[in-house]
Amino acid sequence: MKEKLKRGTWGIRFLINLSTVALGILIFWLLGFIMKDIVSIEGPDYARVEEKYVNRDLTQKEELFEKEIAELGRKISDTQKQQNLVADSSRNLQQTINQLLELQKLSIQKNITLSPTEQENLSTSIGQFLENQKNYQQMNKGIEELAGKKLLLDKEQQQLQQQIDKQKKTAVKEYDKLYQTHRLKLAFYQMAILVPLLIIAGYLLIRKRSSIYFSIFLAFGGATLLKVGLVMHEYFPKRYFKYVLIIVLLAVVLRILIYFIRTIAFPKIDRLMKQYREAYERFLCPICEYPIRTGPRKFLYWTRRTVHKVLPYMDVADKEEIYTCPSCGTMLFEECKSCQKIRHSLLVYCEHCGKSKDI
Ligand SMILES: [Zn+2]
Ligand SMILES: [Zn+2]
Repeated sequence: MKEKLKRGTWGIRFLINLSTVALGILIFWLLGFIMKDIVSIEGPDYARVEEKYVNRDLTQKEELFEKEIAELGRKISDTQKQQNLVADSSRNLQQTINQLLELQKLSIQKNITLSPTEQENLSTSIGQFLENQKNYQQMNKGIEELAGKKLLLDKEQQQLQQQIDKQKKTAVKEYDKLYQTHRLKLAFYQMAILVPLLIIAGYLLIRKRSSIYFSIFLAFGGATLLKVGLVMHEYFPKRYFKYVLIIVLLAVVLRILIYFIRTIAFPKIDRLMKQYREAYERFLCPICEYPIRTGPRKFLYWTRRTVHKVLPYMDVADKEEIYTCPSCGTMLFEECKSCQKIRHSLLVYCEHCGKSKDI
């Protein structure tokens, strides 16, 4: 039989576990760097897509309109400023005229005529005032005209803008499509690296389960599996990811379940030997647990629990003989091929001569 592996001291086992974890982290990092390099592959350029879908003439026209509108706005505000200046000067003139008129009124009451300079001042002030008023009105007209033009341009620009927006929408849609394809491509590249690694790791973990290097495979497999999970979570729409996740979990749980069921159904040789040994100790058939009623125990009744309380009559001669389980037909005691005495059929060594046999 295979000798059990020496497990080493506590310190060495601790170091091995620690190194395994460190190895797992390093592998995870390495995979992370590779994935990052793949992600840095350049995607589609939005400016180019827009160039393809948005009419260049329209945008140029729109820009021109915008400039013109701004120019008109500037002109309107300039005229308004001038108008304000004119209004100020008009107010000043009005004050002067009022004062002069007051003087005239007084001189008429006192029967004195105004001096010629004062007369002249009055008439020039009135003339200037009237001139100002005329200018003011003209400026008003100008502003009105400019505002009308601006309104028309605004309308046209709005229409243009709507057209451009429509084209931009198609451009954005197209860009989204290109971007999604790019992402899928990235996901494909990443999976093309990760999936083979995962398959290798799975193979090593299942096939080399009893290898002394199992912990290395475990670190490798764990890191790869975690990376695959993260990459899938990034790219798969959440809707699909939860299905992928649940299917993977189902597979893992099912595998574990099958493993345990199989260990019970098809026990490994050492577990089987242990089961046989314990059954023989209790005088029960190792296969079906029916009592082995041989020798002095011929007429006794016992179970797994009461076997040690039931004592056979010691005066009956303990004569060994070949014995088959009457319940399941398994040969339990047979003649040894080497010493011709009676031996356990289901144990490895003969109790008389020590000769071993294959079970
Ligand atoms: Zn049996
Ligand atoms: Zn023998």
